[in-house]
This record gives sequence, C-alpha cells and structure tokens, in this order.
Amino acid sequence: MMGNIINLGSNINGSSDMIIDIPPHSDFSIHNIPFGIFSTADTKPRVGVAIGDHILDLVAVAELGVFEFDTKVFEKPALNRFIGLGKTVSSKVRTDIQSWLKDDQSPLAKKHNLFVSQSDAKMHLPVQIGDYTDFFSSIEHATNVGMMFRDPANALLPNWRHLPVGYHGRASSIVVSGTPVIRPKGQVMPNGASSPVFQASKRLDFELETGFIIGKNSIMGSSISTEEAEDYIFGKVLFNDWSARDIQKWEYVPLGPFLGKSFASSISPWVVTLEALEPFRVAGPIQEPEVMPYLNYSGTKNYDINLEVSLTPDKGKEQLLCQSNFKYMYWNMCQQLAHHTVNGCNVNIGDVMGSGTISGKDEQSYGSMLELSWSGTKPISILDGTTRTFIEDGDTVTMRGHAEKDGKRVGFGEVSAKILPAL
Ligand code: MN
Repeated sequence: MMGNIINLGSNINGSSDMIIDIPPHSDFSIHNIPFGIFSTADTKPRVGVAIGDHILDLVAVAELGVFEFDTKVFEKPALNRFIGLGKTVSSKVRTDIQSWLKDDQSPLAKKHNLFVSQSDAKMHLPVQIGDYTDFFSSIEHATNVGMMFRDPANALLPNWRHLPVGYHGRASSIVVSGTPVIRPKGQVMPNGASSPVFQASKRLDFELETGFIIGKNSIMGSSISTEEAEDYIFGKVLFNDWSARDIQKWEYVPLGPFLGKSFASSISPWVVTLEALEPFRVAGPIQEPEVMPYLNYSGTKNYDINLEVSLTPDKGKEQLLCQSNFKYMYWNMCQQLAHHTVNGCNVNIGDVMGSGTISGKDEQSYGSMLELSWSGTKPISILDGTTRTFIEDGDTVTMRGHAEKDGKRVGFGEVSAKILPAL
C-alpha cells in the first residue's frame, strides 16, 4: 500500500502542503524525522525515516542521487555507520528531508516508491549496541525504591545526590518493540524463609525509561564534559528495563543489579534526534547540595516529554497504568555522560544509556509496578475484574512518549512487549 501523495489542510503538525499525508497528532510529524531500521517482504533491513503512517526508504531516496556522501550507510542493518558520518551529515539529511517533504517540486515529489506503509514493514533494532548502561536518576523513583528495599527513614543512600548512580547492563538481551519476553527464573529469598529457592519470578516488573544513543566515539583515558556531552548524543528511544524484583532483591547486595535485570530490555524502533527535541528543552530540578565542578552544567538540559505505560491482559482491553514525564529527571543526560566518562571510560557509537525509571511525585506518575502497587501491598484493578501487583503471563506492556508545544508534536511511537510463561 503506497501513501496518498496529496495535499492536506493545516493541522496540529503544520503539515499543510506536504507531499505525503500526515495524520493530525501523528508522533512522526514533519518536525520529527526519526531514523530507524526496517525491512519489508521485498527488502532487507535498511535505514528509513518515519513520517506519518509511512516510512521514507532512504536507500530508495539515495538512488535519486540527492546525497553527497557514501550512501552505502543506508543499506546497513543498523544505524551505526550512518551515525558515524557525524552530526553535520545526519542533521543535514534530516533538514533536507523536511524541506523536500514540504516542496511539491522536490526530488521526492510524485515518487510513490519511496514510501512504505508502516503496517507493511517490520522494524528492527535501530543500532548495533556494544554496551548498555542504566542509571538511577529519578529522585522520586530512588526514594520510593529505597523506602521499600531498605530504610523508609533513609531512603536515599549518601552518594545519591552527589553522583548519577548507574550500573553496567547487558546489551545482548536488548530487543526491539514487539519481541515477546520470557519470564525469567532464578534464586529468590521468600519472606521469612531461611534459605533461597529457585523459581520463576513472581515479581516481574517494567521500568518506564528513555534511552539515549551515543553518536560519537570517545577516546579511552579522556572524558566528556557536560558542555561537550550533547555532541556525543545522537538521539533518544523509549526504554523498558524489565526487572524481576524478587531476583533483584536477593542478588543485588553488594554489587548491584545482575540477573534480575539482564534477561531482557525492550526499546522503541525509531531514534528521535536531539535536534528534533530542541524545542522541548526545560530546566531541571534544583540540585542540592551543589554538585562537583565536573557535573556542573549551564543551560536547560531537561526535556518536556510526556510518557505513559499501559497494560493489555491476554485477550483483554488496554488500560493506562501511569503517566510521567522525562522532565522530572534529577540528573540530566549530560551529567550522566560526564560522570560515565570522568574516569577515562570510553563510549562508542550505538551504546545505549538508560535514564533509570522515571517517576514523578504523585502515585499516578510512578514508573514501575513496584511503586504503583507499593511492593505488592496495593493491588491495581484491571478492567477484566482481576487485579495486578506485578506483570502476569500473557500481559502486554506498552510505553508511549511524545513532546508537544506550539502546535508541534514530536513522538517516539511505542515500545511494547508481551510476557510469555517461563520455560
Ligand atoms: Mn532501570
């Protein structure tokens, strides 16, 4: 099915006089132009751009001879090589596409074969991920978890306000939206028991996060300042850091998360560039006490991105579980990257950095079942008459995110995954 190459009236995304039909309130407006990897029945995985309900095939666009660089990068099954050309190139590709889509005399006009319906495409992991790091940067989430796992009176550990706490996650088990996730098994210590038991996790949880994707290699032994950090960030995705709370609680002392996290993480297929998010910058929370000089920053480094999580039971109806916002983050991405590299650790193109669970102040904004059900003590009512404290087999968890301001909407689409029974 090809796109309707028609002109539309004005709508929220300002998509009047566009060469392709963009539905009002689409996440993939002319202001967005996110990059991803797709394939169809006829084509191997390749680079594309989401626009409305369609994908602009950049291999096909390159065949028009409109780009002045080696367009073989678009034939790769990951964005790494394209990202590696640098922001000068990737930014120009984005702004060129924006102007072409608005110009009925452009090289793209009347070329129906350049567009693929998203419903006819299969999405793949957008980047080849070498390393994955996850942070713990929402003060509300860290406080809630500290209260439940440790001491309600001293929920935040002494280091928390001085550095963005993180751990090295597992890149091998990051999967793209739509890939089912199998319930993990492992050691847990039941309440009141004197020795651990081996079982399928009974406390399977999601974590509402975003991830940023490294867009430039750094050199081992050097560090990235908060000032330079944005130059090293290509863009963002939605990120579900699946967590088995019972496995996590028993194993995490003293070295942090391990098997309770490494079984799977799900990411959204479209990488929204930092350039697309530029209009949505906002100031972050005041940091007290004052941070060390290497973590100091100037300017507005947080982003106003609405986030939500919904649950769909097997054969049931989808329902909203929580709504949060990326702007709540205590530690911003530039501080995370500066901290990550301050010891000389290098980062590489395609590395994924998880924000950490993004919770807000009120209970409807908590970004995990652990917090929403307060460690299982407050069951959540489900439309089919059942309740949930954690995620059950057959449940599908879907996260969505978008920014919107002055009639411009820039969204991420979704990251969704169904939980299958333990093997
Ligand atoms: Mn996490």
